[in-house]
Amino acid sequence: MASALTDKLSRLVKEMRGQARITESNVQDMLREVRMALLEADVALPVVRDFIARVKEKALGQEVLGSLKPGQALVGIVNAELSATMGAGVADINLAAQPPAVILMAGLQGAGKTTTTAKLAKHLIEKRKKKVLTVSGDVYRPAAIEQLKTVTAQAGAEWFPSTPDQKPQDIARAALDYARKHYFDVLLVDTAGRLAIDELLMQEIKDLHGLLNPVETLFVVDAMQGQDAVNTAKAFKEALPLTGIVLTKLDGDSRGGAALSVRAITGAPIKFAGVSEKIDGLEVFDADRHAQRVLG
Ligand code: GDP
Repeated sequence: MASALTDKLSRLVKEMRGQARITESNVQDMLREVRMALLEADVALPVVRDFIARVKEKALGQEVLGSLKPGQALVGIVNAELSATMGAGVADINLAAQPPAVILMAGLQGAGKTTTTAKLAKHLIEKRKKKVLTVSGDVYRPAAIEQLKTVTAQAGAEWFPSTPDQKPQDIARAALDYARKHYFDVLLVDTAGRLAIDELLMQEIKDLHGLLNPVETLFVVDAMQGQDAVNTAKAFKEALPLTGIVLTKLDGDSRGGAALSVRAITGAPIKFAGVSEKIDGLEVFDADRHAQRVLG
């Protein structure tokens, strides 16, 4: 597959014409291009370093040095390693719990939590034939509760009312109780975000996690966040046992390097990608395809 990176590497290989064989220093030159491509895609520096070290180990084996087309061989290794790092295979939502299976949505304000909650509701109704209830614990932004109500209706799911004067913990308990009594398969819990990480937010979502015992705790992160995604991911990973990631706004023009950083930092699989503002703009994350995009 041709890409800007493949072109650059091919050019390097042409410069080696006349050499009897590809050397370790040629591989180093090629790896420098890979490093640049990842940094341009906004992958965090420590993540890039680890990644390059792993690729180097593989590339110095016969795979690259002994191949007829070393540039392409290296791109092959880089692609394979990238998609393995971002989680090869498809990881759908886990619903293996005594119903209602609770899914807790975590992330910063504006990451796309509310939108993704409704998109997931639609996905679970249509693809998994589930009866889905949503609830908002965002009592700090009154518009957030209304927003969830609107998008839940678009998804064809049921919305559990909450009001800004309630405590998020009380809302969660009431919604869980209602979901049990009315035989819902899934309860999706949207939570409050902040513009930046703060202690109160983290304590609150930890409390919610404790009392809801969710089968999935999804970290929703904006793909456009680039380098900042690392610190956000670290903070949420420390607070919560994350089970998956949803990378939103992949329809934007970012190269989506955040996927690599967030995956490396949390260790959680990237389950879905948000690809539009619309209710059906959610796709199962495809690591192979995303690897191509990151490399540009
Ligand atoms: P929250 O504060 O985390 O609940 O974020 P919202 O769900 O309110 O989303 C913030 C903004 O991002 C809204 O304008 C959404 O329409 C938009 N948004 C969310 N997901 C996507 C996506 O995948 N693509 C695009 N283009 N916009 C998105």
